[in-house]
Amino acid sequence: MPTIRQLSPSVVNKIAAGEVIERPASVVKELLENSLDAEATRVDVVVEKGGADLIRITDNGCGIRADQMQLAVASHATSKIADAKDLFHVETLGFRGEALASIASVSRLMLRSRPADCEAGAELEVVGGRVEPIRPVGCSLGTAVEIRQLFFNTPVRHKFLRTTSTEMGHITEAVTRLALAHPEVHFSLTHSGRQVHDLPPVEDPRERVAVLFGQEMADGLIEIDNRDDVIRLQGYVANPSQSRGNNRWQYLFLNGRHIRDRSLQHALSEAYRGLLLTGRHPICFLHLEIPPSTVDVNVHPTKLEVRFQDSGAIYSQLLGALRAKFLTTDLVAQGTVPEQSTTTDSESETAHVKLDASELFDWAKRQLGGPHRQEFSSGDLDSRGLPRSGSAGSLHLHDVSLPTVGHDAPPVPSSLSAIEDKIEFGERSRLEPPVECVPVPHGPQPALQIHNRYLVVETEEGLEVIDQHALHERILYETLRDKVLGGAIESQRLLVPEPVDLASSETAAIIENREILRLLGLEVESFGGDTILVSAYPAMLSNFSPLDVVQSLAEQLQNEGNQTESRDLLDDLMHRIACKAAVKYGDRLTSEEVNALLQQRHLAQDHHHCPHGRPTTLVFTCQQLDRQFKRI
Ligand code: ADP
Ligand code: MG
Repeated sequence: MPTIRQLSPSVVNKIAAGEVIERPASVVKELLENSLDAEATRVDVVVEKGGADLIRITDNGCGIRADQMQLAVASHATSKIADAKDLFHVETLGFRGEALASIASVSRLMLRSRPADCEAGAELEVVGGRVEPIRPVGCSLGTAVEIRQLFFNTPVRHKFLRTTSTEMGHITEAVTRLALAHPEVHFSLTHSGRQVHDLPPVEDPRERVAVLFGQEMADGLIEIDNRDDVIRLQGYVANPSQSRGNNRWQYLFLNGRHIRDRSLQHALSEAYRGLLLTGRHPICFLHLEIPPSTVDVNVHPTKLEVRFQDSGAIYSQLLGALRAKFLTTDLVAQGTVPEQSTTTDSESETAHVKLDASELFDWAKRQLGGPHRQEFSSGDLDSRGLPRSGSAGSLHLHDVSLPTVGHDAPPVPSSLSAIEDKIEFGERSRLEPPVECVPVPHGPQPALQIHNRYLVVETEEGLEVIDQHALHERILYETLRDKVLGGAIESQRLLVPEPVDLASSETAAIIENREILRLLGLEVESFGGDTILVSAYPAMLSNFSPLDVVQSLAEQLQNEGNQTESRDLLDDLMHRIACKAAVKYGDRLTSEEVNALLQQRHLAQDHHHCPHGRPTTLVFTCQQLDRQFKRI
């Protein structure tokens, strides 16, 4: 029979240390939090060998009286809460009363402190949990905690210490988080005699971002300030032209505490949907203030995670605030665009997505709910979203309201340039030799199509280079999205349904997602075997054969991999349709088409990014050009 025994305080502390003190950076975090709770206005962090040899944190806070010092290093001893109900009114960073005891149990800790009302200070040493007698000592106001030989008595932990630079990276991150949360406090960080950061107090938090993340990042920040009766959301998010391959630069603070919260990170990604390339993550420095009684901070040993009473409300507020802000912000990419890597969709089995109408409805409401929405008037546009009147527009006019009978005629060529070339070649070849660069009149501003890919437009400030496909795709995507969400999708109805033979995986993908496809104007039913019957398909794709359309959508469905959210699927299918219907990279456009495209771009809520998040437009100001040409 095993014997049950009470563990000694030193073992208890070591167990607690195992949870809270994972590495030197955890010590730095805990000690900095104590300094901030002591209302220090200056905190200096000195580290040797990535914290393995020494961590010294000195503050000018309220200090600890000599007669309280032993309690400070005892476990479950704190000045921050008194009883259980206080747990729901925590306004300090610490409250568990475990940090000093845990750290002291796995290191040599020296605590020196002098409160403002004491003539002399006191000093207390704890070696591996053994507390030495208190000694009086002369020291300046505030508290200094010195940790030497971390994990000297826990060899297993010691073995897990990584290289000095890795540990130092974690320490720098710990300082960064608290420095961002408290711009009013002076922080410094010194490693092996070299100053890593000196961060004097600043009034504008952007200055702190500038020092820690560079001026360019700070200059591109978009301010968010949104409050309701209980929640205040305030801070900055980065312009979509700046993003990261991971989500580590998403700094979320809750009542001054850095937190990680998957739901809020999701809200952030949703807000940037369509603004960032796949695989890229937004950057933010956001502070959330909510009544402490509406959040439980006691769910995680290092308090990195919290539990909100109403996380849905916070999610909506974050998403809504960012969306509203983006709609009123010019998110144009400036000059050179940083290289961004794309990640390929994972190839896995076709998703079994069930259409959840209420979820889609919610999503639709959110999509349409922006306060500054512009209404599309698509009556004047043809199936490609280009104008119905005018020579170029009429080249590919399809009256989508009239049903067509079957598809006996060969499919209309998919490329706009192919049609144009046929019609215009004779005339144009007589008048002018085919040239790569064609200046085209565009109202008062001249627009130039270059290499059948880009449109160059003169603007008041300088010039813009527009990716013709990306811009057209964006406009079509938004038009389509509005129609789909408004339940007013135009479809090309076939009087005689057309049988289409597909690969069996394609058939399965199409039939499984029939309901979502119907929202997009594609109506299909199974015809036995791998044949499906198409009775209607999206009018926007009326230039393509039903086979081509169905195959393309099946391909998208198969690409979705483990995509499980029907709204994501619907969105991706809309991207696919817009991409397919848009003028291509390489299509020669007539001047009327160029003009039509440029005129329509203001119809799109975000004409600066294609639906995949690539920029549609690059802006070069005269000032930038002058600088590049060394005129200024
Ligand atoms: P907690 O922060 O959860 O209360 P700690 O073990 O970190 O627990 O600290 C124990 C107590 O020691 C704190 O409640 C606080 O009263 C005191 N203390 C620790 N560090 C400082 C400091 N830098 N300045 C003033 N008091 C401190
Ligand atoms: Mg503490």
